[in-house]
Amino acid sequence: MRSLKNEIEQRGMRIFELVEQHLESPFSKAGFHQRMMALSMRDEQLKVHLFRLVDVLPSLRTSAEVIEHLQEYLADTSDGFTPLIRAGVRLAGVVPWLSARVLRWNVSEMAHQFIAGENPRDLMKTLRKRRAQKIGFTVDLLGEAVVSEREADEYAARCLELLEILARETQGWTDPLGKNSGLFPVVNLSVKISALYSQINPADPTDAIAHLAPKLRPILRRARELGAFINFDMESYDHKNITLELFKTIFTEREFKDWPHAGIVIQAYLRDADADLRDLIEWGRARGTRFTVRLVKGAYWDYETMKSRQNGWDCPVFFQKPESDTNFEALSRLLLENESIVTAAFGSHNVRSIAHAQVFADELGIDRSRFEFQLLYGMAGPIKRALVELGYRVREYCPLGELLPGMAYLVRRLLENTSNEGFLRAKFAENVSAAELLRNPDELIKKDGAARSVACVQDRQRKNDASLDTASGDIYENSPLVNFVCKESQDKMRSALREVRSRFGEKYPLVIGGEKVWTDQLTPSVNPSAPTEIVGYAAKAGIPEAERAVKAARAAFRKWSRTPFEERARLVERAAEILERRRFELSALEVFEVAKAWSEADADIREAIDFCRFYAQQMRRLGRPKLTQQVPGEESYHHYWPRGVAFVVAPWNFPIAILCGMTSAALVTGNTVIMKPSEQSIICGAMLMQVFEEAGVPPGVLNFLSGHGSVIGAHLVDHKDVDLIAFTGSREVGLKIWESAGVTRPGQRELKRVVCEMGGKNAMIVDSDADLDEAIGYSIYSAFGYQGQKCSALSRLILLEENHDRVLERLIPAAASLRVGDPEEPGIMVGPVIDESAYRRILDYIEIGKSEATLAYQAKEVPPHGYFVPPTIFTEVKPDMRIAREEIFGPVLSILKARDLDEALEVANGTDYALTGGFFSRSPANIERVKAQLEAGNVYINRSCTGAIVGRHPFGGFKMSGGGTKAGGEDYLLHFLLPRVVTENITRHGLAPERGSLQRPPLAQ
Ligand SMILES: Cc1cc2nc3c(=O)[nH]c(=O)nc-3n(C[C@H](O)[C@H](O)[C@H](O)COP(=O)(O)OP(=O)(O)OC[C@H]3O[C@@H](n4cnc5c(N)ncnc54)[C@H](O)[C@@H]3O)c2cc1C
Repeated sequence: MRSLKNEIEQRGMRIFELVEQHLESPFSKAGFHQRMMALSMRDEQLKVHLFRLVDVLPSLRTSAEVIEHLQEYLADTSDGFTPLIRAGVRLAGVVPWLSARVLRWNVSEMAHQFIAGENPRDLMKTLRKRRAQKIGFTVDLLGEAVVSEREADEYAARCLELLEILARETQGWTDPLGKNSGLFPVVNLSVKISALYSQINPADPTDAIAHLAPKLRPILRRARELGAFINFDMESYDHKNITLELFKTIFTEREFKDWPHAGIVIQAYLRDADADLRDLIEWGRARGTRFTVRLVKGAYWDYETMKSRQNGWDCPVFFQKPESDTNFEALSRLLLENESIVTAAFGSHNVRSIAHAQVFADELGIDRSRFEFQLLYGMAGPIKRALVELGYRVREYCPLGELLPGMAYLVRRLLENTSNEGFLRAKFAENVSAAELLRNPDELIKKDGAARSVACVQDRQRKNDASLDTASGDIYENSPLVNFVCKESQDKMRSALREVRSRFGEKYPLVIGGEKVWTDQLTPSVNPSAPTEIVGYAAKAGIPEAERAVKAARAAFRKWSRTPFEERARLVERAAEILERRRFELSALEVFEVAKAWSEADADIREAIDFCRFYAQQMRRLGRPKLTQQVPGEESYHHYWPRGVAFVVAPWNFPIAILCGMTSAALVTGNTVIMKPSEQSIICGAMLMQVFEEAGVPPGVLNFLSGHGSVIGAHLVDHKDVDLIAFTGSREVGLKIWESAGVTRPGQRELKRVVCEMGGKNAMIVDSDADLDEAIGYSIYSAFGYQGQKCSALSRLILLEENHDRVLERLIPAAASLRVGDPEEPGIMVGPVIDESAYRRILDYIEIGKSEATLAYQAKEVPPHGYFVPPTIFTEVKPDMRIAREEIFGPVLSILKARDLDEALEVANGTDYALTGGFFSRSPANIERVKAQLEAGNVYINRSCTGAIVGRHPFGGFKMSGGGTKAGGEDYLLHFLLPRVVTENITRHGLAPERGSLQRPPLAQ
């Protein structure tokens, strides 16, 4: 008996022989597309430029715009830049209208390579041709990125309409194989789940299913009546569990339980794929009706690896291509072994993967007509023909729609075709031998452990090998975010919420000099979603307690300032470990005390952890004295002393992160601290105190006072024995502190240092060529995430005139789709504002807005109890209006119109603030301009303007946004330190030793 290995090789060779007979490039159309692919494969940098140009092109309206982009993208490309393109760019300068048309035509032709039709009529022409070639179809409606429920409803309606057309136009079509046709309806529609509901949140599968199921039922019902088949495509990993759960839920319902014409995709590049497929098979058996699985490798590899690396998550995909191939083969076997309940559809262009499935099916005696091969439209034509000739069932995946909404699909295909690792490139562009292409992928897996996680290992190596001269952010590895895609994380959060709720009403003391101090007054802290619920009480400090705290901190300073920095660094690192251990509990507390959504609360705790670890690392860098210059006979060392007693005053909007950031910076640098949380987040403050106590902070080194800012805050700012004030909060209070700290009081030792971070009136500009899917999604998140209560939040969206109406048309329905509610529920985007006075102030601003500008949108339904302000959008806002100048700190967005980028920049820069700002554009020249000219401490291009990460995005602004400090940046600790230089003449009567005596940093006296 010949081995399976030989069988597969033989089968593969046979397919290759047939492919050779019909050889044509798999990229069926010659010309521009082929040249572009060839260039891209030769030069990675050029590939990026070319693909970006292709991406932006359909959204450009005039020839001049096309030519500008062509020049911007390609004019400077030096490496591998071919004379052909250079000539093209030059020509474009001479005859712009002609070049623009030619370029557009070429790109649209290239898109037609992959898009089966722009409308149903064109599509039917394609499908008829394929029918003649015995190739079936599944149709995919392009336009998967929906930003609102209106768009999602349109997608659902288009699906229904398409079903009708396909059923009507294919009447009388018979099965190409004439066997087992009952398993394979002619009409087959592939549906993208994310296009049916705009508010899918991975943390909340229940909500997603509750919204998706009612939209799907009419489609499924009609498909069943028409005898059609519906397939759920699989998208990025954050939608995977929801898609699987939805599939199982809806097809277990009575109405669809016995319907066999439903299919779902399994992606073999996922480490979870085996477990998911087994689970599906088990479910299918319990259900008792056949279903179909399309097995693919997966189309989002680059995205998944990038996203997991950005967030510090375990990467869900395999790192080595042969691992995906091997898994594909294992899953093929699993599918075929369970043929009695599941119909297999193999979605691959890889002849080895295909041959393996065929041989294994033969081994099991499964007839060729009982499974199918699916391939993408416009790719691997000869392979499709070879499979038909061998008597297999072939179905083509046919995207339908226009180029603009289809761009994401097109770029995925271009990436796939030019991927270094891809089969098609190897076979058709690099002529790799058939024998090589048919090798068992398992033999190609690098077995050593390191290779299994190449990307992460590379990251870690880069960080560990970095010298002290490397950028400080780059030697720091951030703590990962909790990934709420995982059910385990959802469960942990739910149980933490229950646990924290059960402790509602507990009382927390002040901590002064290591002692718990109770006063005769307790301040309640309420849940903004349900103000009758008291999260907890904290003892309220008055002037006597403030005085005691200063004394305790002053007394502890001498010893703490002389404690080696390594010991201080270890203390804050221990605090980070405790924060990590109590992560879910503290996130849950934030949900209740300050109404943060789950992921926002988690990001806050993550930031606190990062602050501790990052500052510990920075202190080790700064703690060693540094020789200023090499000169014979003399040594000068530059080093730092702590400043003294620090008063830390934090806001409620990042109630643990900012408090912890300022406190850990002060502690690690050797200052002693009086920590005062905001009055609205005192329980979070009390918890942070517990964390530091458990970490072992010595008595008096950290003191916890909760109380009125206007009483104890003002007293401590003015106190002669307070040397440093670290403040984050409103402009009003910040400026008072700045001024007051400038006054020298009798007996004061030091000039007070103020670290002052205040608010913003942040603007984002949308360029005329911006990717609107992204611009809208990110703008909505930046403006309404955490109810607009981040100091970095977007409050002015500046639209270029020509884009204005188009953006608004999509932006307003997107805002109207937001989930407003109690953030105890996962997946809520907009919760209540912090308290009654904020509620009233924001509503007042809304009234001002109504009198100044046009109310374009206001949410109608918000929960009746709690401090819920409806998300609101004003249009026709002019730069001098109050709503365009004053910080509102709530879910209110102003839209301003600008003639061009000059005016947009002028408007963006025309406020008192300079905190964050952003720009959406695909013009390299405009991006460079905005990078250089936008007045903001943090400028974000093509992403949200919130969500700074420690070490990666050092955060802080200037003008009336702050004194120019950067929390989470390499120079932050310097504000907490006094620089010194000690110089020693090390010669003795002509004896000049190479090194002096200075070994350790001279400590503060
Ligand atoms: C009909 C059809 C329907 C499809 N539907 C979907 C769908 O719903 N969802 C979806 O995600 N994809 C879908 N795809 C795309 C598919 O997932 C693959 O991206 C594509 O087919 C390429 O795989 P291949 O076997 O043809 O080629 P090959 O060249 O053999 O494989 C390429 C694939 O290997 C994987 N890979 C590449 N580099 C690495 C690496 N370093 N480590 C690990 N793995 C790597 C990637 O998945 C990549 O796409 C579909 C494909 C077809 C043909």
